[in-house]
Amino acid sequence: MRKILFSRVDCSGNESLYVQQVLDSGWLTTASKAHELEKKFSEITGAKHACAVNSCTSALHLALEAVGVGAGDTVLVPTWTFTASAEVIRYLGADPIFLDVEYGTCALSPEIIKKAVENNPNAKALVVVHFAGQATSLGNREEDGIAEFCSEHGVKIIEDAAHAFPASVDSEMVGNIGDVTCFSFYANKTMTTGEGGMLTTNDDAVAQRVKLMRLHGIDRDVWGRFTDDKSSWEYDILAPGFKYNMPDINAAIGLAQLERVFDSRQSRQQCAEYYMTNLSDITCIDLPLIRVPYEDHAWHVFSITLNSKAKIDRNRLIELLASDGIGTSVHYKPLHRMSYYKERYNLSPEKFPNAELIWKGCMSLPIYSSLNEGELSYICERLHFHLDEK
Ligand SMILES: *Cc1c(COP(=O)(O)O)cnc(C)c1O
Repeated sequence: MRKILFSRVDCSGNESLYVQQVLDSGWLTTASKAHELEKKFSEITGAKHACAVNSCTSALHLALEAVGVGAGDTVLVPTWTFTASAEVIRYLGADPIFLDVEYGTCALSPEIIKKAVENNPNAKALVVVHFAGQATSLGNREEDGIAEFCSEHGVKIIEDAAHAFPASVDSEMVGNIGDVTCFSFYANKTMTTGEGGMLTTNDDAVAQRVKLMRLHGIDRDVWGRFTDDKSSWEYDILAPGFKYNMPDINAAIGLAQLERVFDSRQSRQQCAEYYMTNLSDITCIDLPLIRVPYEDHAWHVFSITLNSKAKIDRNRLIELLASDGIGTSVHYKPLHRMSYYKERYNLSPEKFPNAELIWKGCMSLPIYSSLNEGELSYICERLHFHLDEK
């Protein structure tokens, strides 16, 4: 029987070579490779500052801290995301306000954002999740005006771009749009360092704070201490910082991944196009709503939703596909259904009608650069077999 994994890491390029260079150099933690990754990332995205960290979760935590979120504050966040987007709000003693999402995109729409900002005048920040790799327009487009709208209301925008590299909006790369953007290099993301993340911003003060807080609040980074001419043992502590720096071993993997990141995005787009074409006639599934040109989408997740016409439920379909040797996943079980958030914030499903509708029927199909046409064709054939009217 065929076996098609849900996700597969590709380390077929210079990954081993660059990691070996780090091992040979004798300097395993943050140093020249991490700095090089930051430089390349900032060139690619166009953002003035890129700060390498050990996860997207760390980046989100640092971002909220740097824009001034603290105890007692409230932060808007979609329910349709991974817990990292919301847990970091709790790290700072602030409280999340969960928002429902739009049905087709599984993301916040400009209308949802505007209404939420107006209804929550005290909200300090908004976490925007670029679900599946499609950027939520933040207002480079005049008709949306979200960036300006939020700024007028004193709401900082933090982008959770864990799915969205490389992605763009109107020829501007994600990472160079909102106040602060956070990327993930977790093992199954569009680019990986094993574990890792990157924070980008054009705000000098935010970048300075992030660089301070990602390494213990030390006034000089360790690499700097050994390369500049002041004595290496001397440093000061300016704040109770965190331990969020990216080791060079990880950065080395990232540098190799970066060399193929646009090619692999293109391959994923081809997978998406294949699904879009070959699944469009199955009436009981809704395909993802794509509002951006396909080239602008990072295509990290391809999520389909069984609608009311379906004769079987999502869990059953996942089982059937598993018995065909096809791995699938679910993005996501929404946060308002997770015990911690549900109980702490007394959340009821009725407040999230769209998320509930998606949750009932959604499942994610394999989408990665090494998925070949034979595999795509087999996946589509099995979906037709299980879902077409017989
Ligand atoms: C993966 C993911 C994260 C967390 O990324 P890490 O690098 O594992 O911390 C955050 N938000 C979303 C939407 C994710 O998918």
